Amino acid sequence: MTQFSMIDPFGRAIDYLRVSVTDRCDFRCVYCMAEDMTFLPKRDLLSLEELDRLCTVFIEKGVRRLRLTGGEPLVRKNIMHLVRQLSRHLKSGALQELTLTSNGSQLERFAAELADCGVRRINVSIDTLDPDKFRVITRWGNLDKVMRGIEAAEAAGLHVKLNAVALKGFNEDELPEMLRWAHGRGMDMTVIETMPMGEIDADRTDQYLPLSLLRAQLEQQFTLTDIPFKTGGPARYVEIAETGGRLGFITPMTHNFCESCNRVRITCTGMLYMCLGQDDSADLRAALRASEGNELLSTAIDEAIGRKPKGHDFIIDRRTNRPSVSRHMSVTGG
Ligand code: SAM
Repeated sequence: MTQFSMIDPFGRAIDYLRVSVTDRCDFRCVYCMAEDMTFLPKRDLLSLEELDRLCTVFIEKGVRRLRLTGGEPLVRKNIMHLVRQLSRHLKSGALQELTLTSNGSQLERFAAELADCGVRRINVSIDTLDPDKFRVITRWGNLDKVMRGIEAAEAAGLHVKLNAVALKGFNEDELPEMLRWAHGRGMDMTVIETMPMGEIDADRTDQYLPLSLLRAQLEQQFTLTDIPFKTGGPARYVEIAETGGRLGFITPMTHNFCESCNRVRITCTGMLYMCLGQDDSADLRAALRASEGNELLSTAIDEAIGRKPKGHDFIIDRRTNRPSVSRHMSVTGG
């Protein structure tokens, strides 16, 4: 097996793959999607077997951690078949970690099986603990169901991390309470700056809360200490003395973290995006379907990695009132 054959033009080794297994979701979070979304026709999707083949080639080329995302990964039909298939790479030791990012709505159903497949941790996205506000932000979500999902995950021994997008005027006052709640349950938490991806019904300038500001607000009631803790992602962590837990900051807007980017993303149609915030992509579905062997696919991946850009240039301000990239986060997976 080739070790870390994917090195980009800036010397970054690519060992992390995020796979959006569906662009569909059972929520319509207001900063993520428009209410009336047009989803891809099912015939354009890679089959679960094709997704498995694609992931396997990436693993052979040096991917060590793989995250399934979406859309909502757990609404893809027969998704556990793919998880079960991919788990063979955990057993063989080729893959160090298989994880998911989920809205938690289907976790009650799948948590035990995920754990059985070797999934050890999972990120659950929740932006508020208030059931009414939860319904407003997700448009369609039910917080109770998500809570039952988290309980099922904990009962199955999965380590849950809470992800919250920091939204001005929506949850900024509630984030300290969410932090206490998460840490009280032994969960880490990460806050994320909203990114200008895809047309939504709202104005992003109204939603954008720089995390530098949030950090200053948190410092009025908590003692934050920077720690070198890493989960392989772009979050920079602090420890909170009062709760004894960790809080991660993902700051694509106020602090560009591209210099240490170790990841690429594939969509459910087999498009490879080398950067979340740029439009360049490579069509791996064509390479996948052109032959039964994996040589063409491997060459297409190498060519794409050879063009991985230095970084994104997200901007949110009133003059630039357009998304930096036209695709929604649900296409490439957050
Ligand atoms: N459905 C899953 C979930 O809810 O986590 C996985 C996909 S979702 C697109 C992944 C993450 O991206 C979620 O935490 C979501 O809040 C976040 N997200 C979506 N749109 C975003 C945006 N424009 N800026 C920042 N984060 C965003």
